[in-house]
Amino acid sequence: MSRPLIGTSWKMNLSPSEAGAWFAQAVPALSKLDDRDLFVLPPFTAIHVARDALCRTAIAWGAQDVHADDAGAHTGDVSAAMLADLGCHFVEVGHSERRRDHREGDALIAAKIGAIHRHGMIPLLCVGERSPGSVATALAVVTRQLRGALGALDADALGRAVVAYEPVWAIGVGAMAAPLHHIEAMHAGIHRWLARHGARSTRVLYGGSVDSANAAPIANLAGVDGLFVGRAALDPKTFIRIASIDIEGGHERD
Ligand code: PEP
Repeated sequence: MSRPLIGTSWKMNLSPSEAGAWFAQAVPALSKLDDRDLFVLPPFTAIHVARDALCRTAIAWGAQDVHADDAGAHTGDVSAAMLADLGCHFVEVGHSERRRDHREGDALIAAKIGAIHRHGMIPLLCVGERSPGSVATALAVVTRQLRGALGALDADALGRAVVAYEPVWAIGVGAMAAPLHHIEAMHAGIHRWLARHGARSTRVLYGGSVDSANAAPIANLAGVDGLFVGRAALDPKTFIRIASIDIEGGHERD
């Protein structure tokens, strides 16, 4: 059984002052939710605000990206050591916007995961197909991404990772969440891949236009271990509603 995991990446939104206001509103309600794990990934500039707001709660914080090297001449980049020093628990890698805007590929993503593990943090790997289509086609894409990013890890290291299934066509303004049957089939396929590599407890989240109306039906699908929320979470009241949904127990693996 795994505890549900619900979190948000704010992407390039919310200044440090706005982050302070978000936490002031959200933390009292979120910290009462003790039957699930929660996390927030602010921009780099607000991670210290998250740390100060969350350090006396069970809510985790983290980052949306990291450099693969531990230090050096990489102007503007941030290392895993720096993120660990800020108390980050999760570090997101492989988001489709980084694959698109920064041409990040599987080899670089795998190297970033190595850096995250070296510094004792949990990589949150985003995978997902670019266009709507059959489950078979989507699984071929996602399996390639899993193999490229996680294929070199042993079962123990895989157990220290989280996967977010995020169909690219279901992300962002104007998009809608993927249909429930598609999400369920994709999560089953991802769990099959993980189990084949010895990882039975790795949590697989769904991300892509999650909102307060669709959060519960999605989170209660078999194989969905939690939610990864983008724009809906920028309003703390909406994130509280999403984080508070009824979830029927943990999901068992066979
Ligand atoms: C995302 O891009 O990771 C995401 C989940 O975005 P949104 O919820 O805004 O579709």
